[in-house]
Amino acid sequence: MVKESIKANNPTLKSWIEISPDSDFPIQNLPFGIYSTLSKSKRVGVAIGTKILDLAVLFDLGYLDSLSFCEYCFSNQFLNRMMGHGKIEIRALRDRISELLVSSNNDLSKNEEHIKLVFDNQSDSNMHLPIQIGDYTDFYSSEQHAFNVGSMFRDPDNALLPNWKHIPVAYHGRSSSIIASGDPIYRPKGQQKLNDEENPIFGPTKLLDFELEMGFITFDGKSLGEHITTEEADNYIFGMCLFNDWSARDIQKWEYVPLGPFLAKNFASSMSCWIVTLDALEPFRTVGPTQDPKVLPYLEYKSDKHIDINLSVSIKLPNGEEKTVCNSNYKHMYWNMNQQLAHHSINGCNINCGDLLASGTISGPEKDSFGSMLEISWRGTKPVCMPDGSERKFINDGDTVIFRGAASNKNYKVGFGELISEVLPTK
Ligand code: CA
Repeated sequence: MVKESIKANNPTLKSWIEISPDSDFPIQNLPFGIYSTLSKSKRVGVAIGTKILDLAVLFDLGYLDSLSFCEYCFSNQFLNRMMGHGKIEIRALRDRISELLVSSNNDLSKNEEHIKLVFDNQSDSNMHLPIQIGDYTDFYSSEQHAFNVGSMFRDPDNALLPNWKHIPVAYHGRSSSIIASGDPIYRPKGQQKLNDEENPIFGPTKLLDFELEMGFITFDGKSLGEHITTEEADNYIFGMCLFNDWSARDIQKWEYVPLGPFLAKNFASSMSCWIVTLDALEPFRTVGPTQDPKVLPYLEYKSDKHIDINLSVSIKLPNGEEKTVCNSNYKHMYWNMNQQLAHHSINGCNINCGDLLASGTISGPEKDSFGSMLEISWRGTKPVCMPDGSERKFINDGDTVIFRGAASNKNYKVGFGELISEVLPTK
């Protein structure tokens, strides 16, 4: 597919809607989500500045008649049906929305009655889980994160396991406990084994942690037995979100051998509500790390497939004070999405519309860019000082964890909004 055809990415475009220069949602972004208001049921919306464009009403009014979508693509509680149209038609939809919002176009901008019908304020709207997630896979693709964890739990001289630079390592997670930004999580209970005790104990986790990740959502893939190449992978990726792979470190430590994460992870994972299309992120492609040793041919890729997205994590206290504990970047990934998707399907595993593939914790090379409290506090040995004088080794009840992310250039920024999750006591 030719990327020059993405008209909506033109950096000179300006909208007739007033948009602050620091907004996550300029006309070059146009992310998709599911929202409702007091008077409107769940539907597909597109974020623009502080507003949401209601695609269900826009369709009803005939503004999308030149495209092949139907009413139920937009009057829907999930994006999946719309996504079923695939990359090219979603690109045409985003281009059409851009055309309607650009200052040189009068189709919508001069119709006061329609403007009232098709826009809602984000501040008056509720955002919902945007995707009916089919399968969920979580990778482990940041070298610094794998190195940090390997150093802490095994041996700094042999921190990476022998397969790590040959295989984008992953596990299959649980999709039905993935929740949206704004949904709280409850501190999970489980078995823990203390170092100086012979037998495990049971109770609420004492080591609740976030993992700073990004996820990508797939279009319909290929059938069982076929695979997607690294070059084809872009055509199967709808868009990206911020993703928090909540982890209970004490439960994880006791249960993970020999089959990996289970109850330490599946109690909840949180995703941001706006899905930024891969198309909108194309201008932010960047070179990835040199992969040494050389990867097998099916994992090789040609053009730049990494993306420069600044990410941060803050902990907000019940008194409203907030502390940023991590500044990282998605470009730090060792394995990119194309390699992850190619590896996921190389054995003939199918990929379906609405699958979610998450990156794994994204840790940068600096100490303030580590993507989990496990690493930031180095297993609890280096507590973080909070604005109220308290310390954090892991996450407390009443803390709110906030992820933010945006790709920026000299012209505009493409943001993801916030991923906000409050931690509540065990139920
Ligand atoms: Ca993870």
